[in-house]
Amino acid sequence: MSLGPGDPDYLAPRAKGVLKDASVIVGYRTYMQLIEPAVLEGKETIETGMTDEIQRCQLAIEKALEGKDTAVVSSGDAGIYGMAGLVLQLLEERKLLGEVNVEVIPGIPALSAAAALLGAPLMHDFAVISLSDLLTPWEVIQSRVEAAAKADFVIVLYNPKSKKRTWQLDRAIEMISEHRSGETPVGLVRNAMREAQAVRITTLSHLDKSEVDMLTILLVGNSQTQIMGEKMVTPRGYNIKV
Ligand code: SAH
Repeated sequence: MSLGPGDPDYLAPRAKGVLKDASVIVGYRTYMQLIEPAVLEGKETIETGMTDEIQRCQLAIEKALEGKDTAVVSSGDAGIYGMAGLVLQLLEERKLLGEVNVEVIPGIPALSAAAALLGAPLMHDFAVISLSDLLTPWEVIQSRVEAAAKADFVIVLYNPKSKKRTWQLDRAIEMISEHRSGETPVGLVRNAMREAQAVRITTLSHLDKSEVDMLTILLVGNSQTQIMGEKMVTPRGYNIKV
């Protein structure tokens, strides 16, 4: 199930209800902190580090098989680079799909939260790409960045950088710059709808990559995207005069 970006105001009522009713809550430590402590009171919680995703989902399945209502939490939307797929894959592998009652509960993903904070950068076609090459070969990521840049999509970059993964963002920005002007607006949002939220609008040529970390999402405009006052706006149509 999906926790949304962080602020409880952006937690969907259905997700809130499921959290309240669950007896076991499973999730990555950082995401558990997004849940109001009162909600977790009296519940069994299973928190593990980032690398134990499979084990975490297996444990959740065990709990569900014991008959306990179990919520596996993801930040943003659980179906976007979240845990929903892994839970379903593991259930399928264990021939339990159909046995265990599963519900995927959607939420507000970081891309929507960030777009809202920036203005309206996603009013036209956009492509979403994760720069993490931990589970996807870099060649695949590279060809997607290249294709999106060439086709003039607004580009949303998830997982842009971590402490160990630093060169991928440089490479992606280089590739995009081959197809787009240096004046193209770029929005950076760190911790959208969470404490320490930071929003910045810059351009491709002025982008300071040292401001980017794994809590940041980047939105690179298309050839029509403009900076209007403090906002980043992609016009809805290419020929419409406002
Ligand atoms: N399921 C999540 C994505 C998880 S992948 C969703 O639907 O949004 C983790 C990446 O998401 C981070 O590296 C960062 O790029 C982005 N992200 C998640 N939450 C964010 C937030 N509140 N603010 C900015 N970026 C965020």
